[in-house]
Amino acid sequence: MNQMSVTHPVLTTTPADVLVVGAGPVGLVLAAALAHYGVRADVVDRRTAPRDSSRANNLWARPQELLAAVGLRDLLARGAHEVVRAEFVIEGRPVDTVRFTDAASPYPAVLYGSQAGIERRVREVLADQGRPVQGGTRLESLEQDDDGVDVVLRGDDGTVARRRYRYVVGADGADSAVRTAVGLDVRPDGHIAFRAGHDDAARLTAYWRRIVGPAPAPGERGSGLREVEPEPGLAHT
Ligand SMILES: Cc1cc2nc3c(=O)[nH]c(=O)nc-3n(C[C@H](O)[C@H](O)[C@H](O)COP(=O)(O)OP(=O)(O)OC[C@H]3O[C@@H](n4cnc5c(N)ncnc54)[C@H](O)[C@@H]3O)c2cc1C
Repeated sequence: MNQMSVTHPVLTTTPADVLVVGAGPVGLVLAAALAHYGVRADVVDRRTAPRDSSRANNLWARPQELLAAVGLRDLLARGAHEVVRAEFVIEGRPVDTVRFTDAASPYPAVLYGSQAGIERRVREVLADQGRPVQGGTRLESLEQDDDGVDVVLRGDDGTVARRRYRYVVGADGADSAVRTAVGLDVRPDGHIAFRAGHDDAARLTAYWRRIVGPAPAPGERGSGLREVEPEPGLAHT
């Protein structure tokens, strides 16, 4: 297929074997993992800037093991808090403690960081490898055949590029253009209810004890994070 002549700076590089659509945590880590195994990937995202707010915050043992396998775990541990236990509080009254240090893993402590921080660090890894995320670039459509995938990418400045990749990965979140294009779109047919903070008889609130301080008084609704001092002998990254 002919590559159109384009002026958009992020669409003028030579295409890699793989196109990753979406620079959320899934797309970024996947691209870094592919690079770890010697596979080049282009990553595009319609957003022009990295996310500066966080949704997901905790990395548990198993994800840390997977990240370690592709050389990312220690990088992401930098700047994160190691949480070694969680204290459960009902109506301000501590009721139970769960210790994570018993987990059969080289990384039993939960890493409390931020999704924005994870995304920023992995973006830096990709940029250092010479394949920065191509922001302001949206996948418009794709068509696959037995040998590869033809995609149409549109830059924020209106330029359009038609490119061919061996593989395209849909890491483009809940409203995935990739899933829609290949007929894999999944729509829930009901609601997943999440109820918190109502006046239920058994209100249970889990507190990450992140900031050292007094537990909420009985009857106090409270929320938030409290810090647990690291267990002796555990490295605090
Ligand atoms: C309000 C909220 C709270 C959450 N809280 C938690 C939590 O506490 N713990 C937890 O584990 N998880 C939480 N999550 C879920 C977590 O944020 C997601 O699981 C995670 O972001 C999914 O990552 P992803 O890479 O699959 O997709 P996303 O982070 O959604 O990234 C998809 C990317 O694809 C890009 N994109 C979309 N369409 C296109 C296109 N056509 N072309 C180019 N780019 C495109 C988007 O701009 C986006 O950057 C929360 C989510 C929300 C919305």
